[in-house]
Amino acid sequence: MDGTFNENDLSRVVEADKAHMWHHLFQHKALESSDPRIIVEGKGMRVWDQNGKEFLDAVSGGVWTVNVGYGRENICKAVYDQLMKVCYFANSAGSIPGALFAEKLISKMPGMTRVYYTNSGSEANEKAFKMVRQIAHKKYGGKKTKILYRDRDYHGSTLATMSAGGQDERNAQYGPFAPDFVRVPHCMEYRKHELGLEHLSGREFGIAAADAIEEVILREGPETVGALCLEPVTAGGGVIEAPEGYWERVQEICKKYDVLLHIDEVVCGVGRTGKWFGYQQYGIKPDFVTMAKGVASGYAAIACMVTTEEVFEMFKDDTSDPMNYFRDISTFGGCTAGPAAALVNMQIIEDENLLDNCAAMGERMLDNLRKLQEKHAVIGDVRGKGLFLGAELVQDRETKEPVDEKLAQQVVAECGAQGVIIGVTNRSLPGRNNTLCFSPALIATADDIDQICDAVDKALTKVFG
Ligand code: PMP
Repeated sequence: MDGTFNENDLSRVVEADKAHMWHHLFQHKALESSDPRIIVEGKGMRVWDQNGKEFLDAVSGGVWTVNVGYGRENICKAVYDQLMKVCYFANSAGSIPGALFAEKLISKMPGMTRVYYTNSGSEANEKAFKMVRQIAHKKYGGKKTKILYRDRDYHGSTLATMSAGGQDERNAQYGPFAPDFVRVPHCMEYRKHELGLEHLSGREFGIAAADAIEEVILREGPETVGALCLEPVTAGGGVIEAPEGYWERVQEICKKYDVLLHIDEVVCGVGRTGKWFGYQQYGIKPDFVTMAKGVASGYAAIACMVTTEEVFEMFKDDTSDPMNYFRDISTFGGCTAGPAAALVNMQIIEDENLLDNCAAMGERMLDNLRKLQEKHAVIGDVRGKGLFLGAELVQDRETKEPVDEKLAQQVVAECGAQGVIIGVTNRSLPGRNNTLCFSPALIATADDIDQICDAVDKALTKVFG
């Protein structure tokens, strides 16, 4: 594959970027002394930058998105054919790929029946929040408007989703936020001492972390709480899987207090953990499931809010009461490229058995990372599910004090120098992002996994000795 790029175009693109682009989560002062990385090509697990340098992408497009890898001709062809047929019509009408992808998606989600298309993970979450609020008004006389969210979880960049944001540092300077969003404690075993629960382990801690949700419901008044919104495996908050016992108890609590369960699968959805959806790892029965990134692996923008017939029925009646239906619209929810791409994306995962590959490669990577943990004292914890893994770097394994983010960023840069792109996260604490994160495409081979871990090993030695 030819990864070179025309020199003249290259300088023009870099100049245009520096003059006019506003990159996300980025301090642009850095571009006064360096050039941005421009990704010009991608194939399989690999991407090439403007200098022709090849990288093994261990983060699926930076933010765990390109689940089936780059350069999938059959997805591109399906999108092209669909766009030539009809690119768009508002979702007041239907479309062929819209209906067929909804049918296919639902076939992977027993218990769910309805799909609402939208553009982004944030927007999908907002749709569910709005439904919860409307149900509160329709069914509970304006009570049950409160939406619980968890410390360390993230649900989006809009103001309502930030109101449900469990990472204060991301929210600083953007308030005030929407009312009636209430925080519950995290379920992170590695940092259970923050909750005063260091004496509990495994299942006991899992149940106690869920019981803490019940305490919040009782404190707020169950008659005021409409929904609980959780990530199945917390992503940006530090790659956190809940301990055993947690989800079972969460489900019981939701049932007991008539609280709708909203699972945010924006990262875990469509294969990332080794099952179609993260919640399916834990036997959860959600009322809302939202998804975005992996739905079409980034080949087109598409997000979905999926719910049950029970919820759907609440918005249906024959009284022609104009207040009774879901009064919401998403202009680009009517783009046909998204579901056209998503249909082929899902077919690829089936045909190439990528869920099993994800589970197997995830195990291999977890093993490799655990070996690195034995070798490098700086790795305090290794965790995750499927090809969605994190390695938390600490100054001291006893105190669990995070390493300075600059050091974690140096590890990322060292991996980059070796041609491997990894990420770093953890609550977005300024200066404290200390969890290396890995989310290679589901097509990763054993060699790819070993190459990633080898680069991390060398980078850790270089930065920490
Ligand atoms: N939920 C989770 C768990 C996410 O990680 C993200 C994005 N990182 C979102 C929601 C928001 O998605 P988007 O950026 O597409 O709005």
